[in-house]
Amino acid sequence: MTTIEQLSALTQILAQRSLSTLFQPIISLSERRILGYEALTRGPSNSPLHSPIPLFAVARQSARLSELEVLSRQSACQRFSEQQLPGLLFLNISPETLLEPEHQPGRTLRLLETYGIAPSQVVIELTEQAPIDDFALLHTALHHYRSMGFSIALDDLGAGYSSLRLWSELRPDYVKIDRHFIDGIHLDAVKREFVGSILKMASASRAQVIAEGIELPEELAVLADMGVDLLQGYLFSRPQDQPSSDIHALLPKLDCSSTPLAEDSSDLSALLNRQISVGAQAPIGEVLEAFRAQANLNSLAVLNEQQQPIGIVHRNSLASALLKPFATDLFARKPISRLMSDDFLLVEQSQSLQHVSRLLTSRARQRIEEDFIITEHGIYLGLGRVIDVLKLITELKIQQARHANPLTLLPGNVPIQQCLSRLLQQSREAIICYVDIDHFKPFNDIYGYAKGDEALLCLAQCLSSRVDPSCDFVGHIGGDDFLLVLGSDDWRQRLHNLQEDFQSQCRRFYRAEHLQAGCFSSLNRQGQHQEFPLLSLSLGVVHLRPEACAQLDASQLADLASQAKRHAKAVPGYSLHITDTQTLAAQSPNSVARAS
Ligand code: C2E
Ligand code: MG
Ligand code: MG
Repeated sequence: MTTIEQLSALTQILAQRSLSTLFQPIISLSERRILGYEALTRGPSNSPLHSPIPLFAVARQSARLSELEVLSRQSACQRFSEQQLPGLLFLNISPETLLEPEHQPGRTLRLLETYGIAPSQVVIELTEQAPIDDFALLHTALHHYRSMGFSIALDDLGAGYSSLRLWSELRPDYVKIDRHFIDGIHLDAVKREFVGSILKMASASRAQVIAEGIELPEELAVLADMGVDLLQGYLFSRPQDQPSSDIHALLPKLDCSSTPLAEDSSDLSALLNRQISVGAQAPIGEVLEAFRAQANLNSLAVLNEQQQPIGIVHRNSLASALLKPFATDLFARKPISRLMSDDFLLVEQSQSLQHVSRLLTSRARQRIEEDFIITEHGIYLGLGRVIDVLKLITELKIQQARHANPLTLLPGNVPIQQCLSRLLQQSREAIICYVDIDHFKPFNDIYGYAKGDEALLCLAQCLSSRVDPSCDFVGHIGGDDFLLVLGSDDWRQRLHNLQEDFQSQCRRFYRAEHLQAGCFSSLNRQGQHQEFPLLSLSLGVVHLRPEACAQLDASQLADLASQAKRHAKAVPGYSLHITDTQTLAAQSPNSVARAS
């Protein structure tokens, strides 16, 4: 399509105001509610400028960006208001238009007033498609928006030219991680590192993180596990003209069997305090009385008629609301819904302690004395205390450190046994892989223990970056022996990649002459000189089938893996030996356990 045709398409769109707006929900996983909707502009469906990317690009090139922006915003506000969508309205705005002389600051406020949308409901998303030269001006313009009561989101974090600088200078309320870092995050340790560091920075700057472009349940599992709470993507809903406002229709069934293998799968019952709750219509005076009568009551959950939590009242905030002169008299008969907060953390009892801890630390405004709500299938059960989570997590960390391998810090034999027991208990299908380095002893002898340790650390690193933390496990048995448990279907590919990673990473350890010869010579166990090939891996795999789980215990399973490793070791170079529990069982009904 020629530039002239594009220009004429744009002119027609602007003249006929033939834009439409789609909405894509952004959800809060912990609170199981819709935080709001991002408005996404579309040209007419038969137009070459249907997609917003070319549409905005052509408008930018032909200096008509402001016009297009104003029309887009108008359409977004109108449709949002017509459909009475709940929560926040996220509006995309190109920063350049804020800097243009014809930019009229009061226009958006007037637009919102027309459609009855409060400024506090609006989040301005800054899309950074071009390098921004004038930080100072942008800063001023944004402060201006903020002073009008809007929140600010930094869009596509990680994709732009200067997002980190923008982040530190603009102090946005939200940061939206670019889709690139979410796509395949369960398969990529570097992407997980990136998101992990964004979460740390966000918690330091009190920004809330939104992950965009979630398409797969595996991506969701990793993000949820890392403590990313605000989510957007096709997995929940595509952008739609009339989006759903029912959270239950959007949330895919979260698979409880996908508790990470590395984690204790026990639920939150140890944290549960069965506290009283009140209905939304309960008079404030009654709630006040409940706090007076029970000195250790920090928070009180407010429920709807279906016994689902809709709000929370904290002792401190209630006290400060009622400190004002005559407040108690004024409020005593009013319903508690007037003073409750709808910003609370809600967790299902079946979730793990680690999960709750990550959610708590990722919340921008969590105070230690404010309790969270525990439910079962959405129905109120009781309250949990932040201090109890901290205590249990600290105990768990101490225990983990005690059982970790001192060199690689990977889980040692006790957690390995626990992991295998959990697998058997839950009758999960899995791949248990015993990993052993070939010719490690002669390598250690000739290169010394420091290099040997480096090679072990290198293998630990390769193992950790090749696993999917939502369903896999890595442990260090000791020396050059490691144990890997894979729950993912693509395990063959992962093991193949692991071997390749390790061999190429190890090249930096060898002397040039050894690298060139492809081998090194050292004394063998009989004290004679012998040539050894460069380091490679022997992998002993047990394919555990659910049917075999009842017949095995953890040490028998470990023995089967160790036997498979011995078979692999008998083959020179990289080798993989697979023992399938199905074949074992077919040979003789009791042979699964006996084989060990
Ligand atoms: P964005 O703001 O980063 O919007 C997210 C884009 O990701 C949207 O593309 C959305 O449809 C798409 N998306 C959402 N979930 C998924 C997913 O799970 N998988 C994949 N593959 N994509 C997903 P869309 O609607 O084509 O918009 C593209 C860009 O155009 C937006 O990126 C935004 O930068 C810009 N844009 C859209 N509307 C407006 C507007 O009114 N004003 C301005 N200035 N820019 C707009
Ligand atoms: Mg956006
Ligand atoms: Mg984006």
